[in-house]
Amino acid sequence: MYFQINIFNILIQKSNFMRYFFILLFVALNGYLSAQSNVEDAIIPLPNVLEIKPDFYLLSKNMTFRVAEIAWDKNIFLEKKKFIREKFASGEIELLKQGLKSLCNINLKYHSKNDRTAASLELMLDKYMDSAAYTMDISIHGIQISAATNLGFFYAFQSLMQLVETSTSNRIHCLHISDSPQFSWRGMHLDCSRHFFSVAEVKRYIDLMSLYKMNVFHWHLTDDQGWRIEIKKYPKLAQISAWRNGSMVGEYSDKKFDSIPYGGYYTQNQIREVVSYAAQRHITIVPEIEMPGHSLAVLAAYPEFGCNNSKLEVGKMWGVFDDVFCAGNDSVYIFLQNVLDEVIALFPGKYIHIGGDECPKTFWKVCEKCQNKIKENQLADEHQLQSYFVQRIEKYVNSKGKSIIGWDEILEGGLAPNAAVMSWRGTSGGIAAAQASHFVVMTPGNPCYFDHYQAKNFTTQPHAIGGYNPLSAVYAFNPIPAELSNENAQYILGAQGNVWTEYVLTFSQVEYMAMPRMIALAENLWTYDSKQNFDDFVSRLKINTSLLDKRKVNYSKQIE
Ligand SMILES: [Zn+2]
Repeated sequence: MYFQINIFNILIQKSNFMRYFFILLFVALNGYLSAQSNVEDAIIPLPNVLEIKPDFYLLSKNMTFRVAEIAWDKNIFLEKKKFIREKFASGEIELLKQGLKSLCNINLKYHSKNDRTAASLELMLDKYMDSAAYTMDISIHGIQISAATNLGFFYAFQSLMQLVETSTSNRIHCLHISDSPQFSWRGMHLDCSRHFFSVAEVKRYIDLMSLYKMNVFHWHLTDDQGWRIEIKKYPKLAQISAWRNGSMVGEYSDKKFDSIPYGGYYTQNQIREVVSYAAQRHITIVPEIEMPGHSLAVLAAYPEFGCNNSKLEVGKMWGVFDDVFCAGNDSVYIFLQNVLDEVIALFPGKYIHIGGDECPKTFWKVCEKCQNKIKENQLADEHQLQSYFVQRIEKYVNSKGKSIIGWDEILEGGLAPNAAVMSWRGTSGGIAAAQASHFVVMTPGNPCYFDHYQAKNFTTQPHAIGGYNPLSAVYAFNPIPAELSNENAQYILGAQGNVWTEYVLTFSQVEYMAMPRMIALAENLWTYDSKQNFDDFVSRLKINTSLLDKRKVNYSKQIE
């Protein structure tokens, strides 16, 4: 730019004609360069080390790759490259190939052994790096990526795809990136009970998460208004609990309902398909099976598991119901253990979410079985009965080699010994749990509930449950509260955005509520705080949304 300005100053004195000519040329050139200079900065989440260099690497329609292992000769501190033919990171490379082909019209092929020229893409397996870390060096000669694991290569490929996709020409800037995430739990939740979303839609949600390196999908599979997972031992869950005879329409206070039958569920084969799809994209699924509250849909099929054995219907109204699992009936625990056996077999991740929230004690207070259970176990009250319930389930889940996570109500009456806590009623539950050395995921209603409005002027927005969680608040949220010591802060695994769907009727609306707030949360959790800047994020987002346009994502353009 310095060079252009000097030329401009010299020439501008020559003549009026020349002056106007060069002013126009300068404006055009300046516009062109500034448009170009933004392009390479559009990676989201922002890499933790990013050095942009002045040169460019020219992309071609045909690119090649090869994989080498880095061996260090420690005696002479020499880095040796050994090319390997093993199918390393083959799934990740396949996804990169598909993405380059379908979105950028670039063919990526294995570099022929006989080809004396350099490969466009050199993948270096460096086992000394951290598992989620990667480095990327782009020079005029090619692209070099180093990582220790398939995960590291996957994240590198996501960054590379963003660079190539957002480039408006056939070149990308030379640069150096050294990157790894700040938090290990970068989550998104989707409520498939209040409204049901197809396998294809759930996969699309996973695709959007993977674009921004999110890595935990919290799949809300059961609630009062519908049970969404096939359990072979209890077929009535699919036949009865998955269907309701109508839904609430409009505002909650209007108490209006339609009478359109609504429902659906995922077969176990479909669940396996989604789990494997997510795993290919390095996303772990945490299934949520709600207990002891939010269980009306189960009781509609199996009334004997409630305190009153009364005839019930799958919930049509949103909110919280008094009918919950009877905590004094041992057959309830056997039912849940059998359900969990099938759930655990389907989901390979460490955590099973057992809900634990919003469980009214109305019927427990008057139920003979519940009161006997309190006496038998010398429990102080119904809150301790809930704690007994959760601890009994935890013991079973632990015996299967898994851990439970639950909403912060599981703290009431005493926290189960190994449970992790999802803090949703503000951050105080998360603080208490971390201080007691329990792992925590922060997802406070404000600002992590993405079913709330994202614009102050609600009238410009589709009808939502209420609240106001703008993009800037999501970006500014710090998952580590100031109250925590450095030692306790280590128990904060990360944070999560929740998309509850009482008022979100279609998948297109899911996209609108999730995007771009998910993108802000992704950067918040990946990029170190010292590198985070909302204005800079917004300027990159405006370029980066071309990825969403290309995929026809229905995202909100409200930036507040
Ligand atoms: Zn009971």
